[in-house]
This record gives sequence, C-alpha cells and structure tokens, in this order.
Amino acid sequence: MELELQPLALPCDGGRPFVIAGPCSAETEEQVMTTATQLAAKGCHIFRAGVWKPRTKPGGFEGNGEKALPWLKRAKEKTGMLITTEVATPEHVELALKYGIDLLWIGARTTANPFAMQALADSLRGTDIPVLVKNPVNPDLELWIGAMERINQAGLKRIAAIHRGFSSFDKKLYRNLPMWQIPIELHRRIPDLPIICDPSHIGGRRELIAPLCQQAMDLGMDGLIIESHCDPEKAWSDAKQQITPDMLDNILSLLVIRDKSVTTEVINEMRKQIDELDNTIMEVLAKRMRICRDIGQYKKEHNMTVLQASRYNEILDKRGAQGALFGMSPEFVKEIFEAIHEESVRQQMEVINK
Ligand code: PEP
Ligand code: MN
Repeated sequence: MELELQPLALPCDGGRPFVIAGPCSAETEEQVMTTATQLAAKGCHIFRAGVWKPRTKPGGFEGNGEKALPWLKRAKEKTGMLITTEVATPEHVELALKYGIDLLWIGARTTANPFAMQALADSLRGTDIPVLVKNPVNPDLELWIGAMERINQAGLKRIAAIHRGFSSFDKKLYRNLPMWQIPIELHRRIPDLPIICDPSHIGGRRELIAPLCQQAMDLGMDGLIIESHCDPEKAWSDAKQQITPDMLDNILSLLVIRDKSVTTEVINEMRKQIDELDNTIMEVLAKRMRICRDIGQYKKEHNMTVLQASRYNEILDKRGAQGALFGMSPEFVKEIFEAIHEESVRQQMEVINK
C-alpha cells in the first residue's frame, strides 16, 4: 500500500534540513525553560522533550508525565518554537493534544508493537497533527512501514519517519546500529516520505553526533532530531549523548548540505553506462539460466542428481579468488554466486520435475 501524504510544512531555514532539538527528558521547569531559551537563541524552531520515558529497566527516571506538559507549553509561549513529545498510549495522545503539543513522535519500542500502534492510530483519528514514527528497535522495514500505514489509514497525512538505528547485542561503536540500507530502501519505496535522522540515539555518545549528522545529510535526509540539554553531564536520562545548544549550533553550522537536485551531464553519462552494464548483466544471467535448464534436462534423461556439492564449492572458491584479483571483496563475490547458484538449482528443479 502507498502512503497518502501531505507535506509536513515545518519551519526551517531555506534549503537546510529542519532540526528538532531539546533534551531527552523534561526534568524540571527550569531545565526546560533554560534549554528552550538557549536553543531558540541559536535559531532552533522545534523543541523536543520526553515526558513519558520508556526505560529498559525499572527504577530509572520514567519522566514527569502530565506535570511536565505545562512546562513545554510555556516554552512554546516564551520562544515561539513548536513543541513535540513522545506518545505511547491513547492517554498520552489525549493529554498531548490538550496541552497544545504541535507534533508527536512515536518511540522505537512502540513502533515495534502493532497493537500499540493501532490503539495510537485510533486515538489520533480526526486530528491532523504531524506524527513522526521512529523505526522499530528491530531492523524490520515492513513493521516500520506498517506502523506508518496504520497512522495514515486513520486519516493523518502529515507523517515522517525517524531513523534512530537498530538494537544489537554487540554495542561496540554505536548504541543502535545505523544500518543505512534500511532508510535508503524506505526512501526508494516511499519517495515522498520525509526521513529524519536521530544521531543521538544511533550514536549514544556525543562525539558521534557530528559525523552521523553529516552522513545523514550526504544521504539526502530531510531533517535531524538531536538531543540537547543546558547541562548534559547532569541529564537524568541519556547524559552521554546530549550536547549543549552551543555545541549543537557549532555542529549544524559545519554541516555540508549538498544539493539533491543537481545532476551534471558527466553523471548522467556515467549513469547511462551503468544502465547498459546492468542490461548486459541481466542478459548474461538469463543465458546462464537457459544453460542450467538444458543441464537439468540432460540430468533428467541420464538420471543424475541436481546438486553436486564438489562442483558448487569449486565455483565459489574460484570466483572468490578471482573477485579479489579484480579489486572486489571475495565475500561479496561469493554472495553473488551463491544467489546465482540458488536460482540455477531452482530452475533445474523446475525442468526435472516437469
Ligand atoms: C527518545 O527519543 O528519547 C527515545 C526514547 O527514543 P527511542 O524511542 O528512539 O529509543
Ligand atoms: Mn533519549
């Protein structure tokens, strides 16, 4: 199913990505007001702060709940920024709307749960508030798209995706693996859907924010959501990944934004060559499959087995080594030949079972 979308129409400075910034959690009224004032002074237009915090383990700070919503409202009145918070249940939605929250975001753990997503979608029916849907914690593109479809089917058209990375057992560099191929595929599937990058939750460390923002921009993402706190070291949640409004301003000013629409003649020419080569690859593959079917016919007539393991290993080893000679990784070449082999076997089986 296609999503039926309308532009988000969020404020941003011409040609730049839109930026949502603010603390992981609304901790105290003072922290909210100080951070919001500092961010507004740096030209930020949209303020984020979590009010209900999904925590991995019990006993941590789980947010101030409804008590914090008037603080966000006050921040909006004082600075003119739009405000956004995370909602996970229909009660959250009702309260957020009551206090004039301008945009809602849905957290990664909620996106992963179709029951919760449907309940949220039902509670949003009849409103047209923009909804930003984080990727689910697991790298499942269909689940992510499904969550957005539920919101869309409830009649909301201003939807965006937030790429915040994917959980993994091995947390060496990133808190959540970026797996960029997933948002890239999302963009290929739904070109009109804005994609926002959340470098804070991908990186989990403040040093990674700048390079992750640049990567997101290089991939043509539309916006950024970044955790920013007036005193990051003392934050009640996600302290390691938050940056001061000053640092944020510095990172944003150094971002190189490339023009998405520019394609030069040279690139067009090279793309034509790639298209021609892809055609050649398809023709060669089709020819290879035809021969495989002939082999299948021969094996059938001579009562031979389809799979001959020694021949298969020989092909993989030979091509892997050849790949290295041609400057390609042997693993990549082996993967391709494994896939080709799988299809060849399928085609032979079709002939043999006819
Ligand atoms: C957050 O944005 O503070 C948050 C809890 O994010 P996520 O759902 O990506 O973990
Ligand atoms: Mn956080």
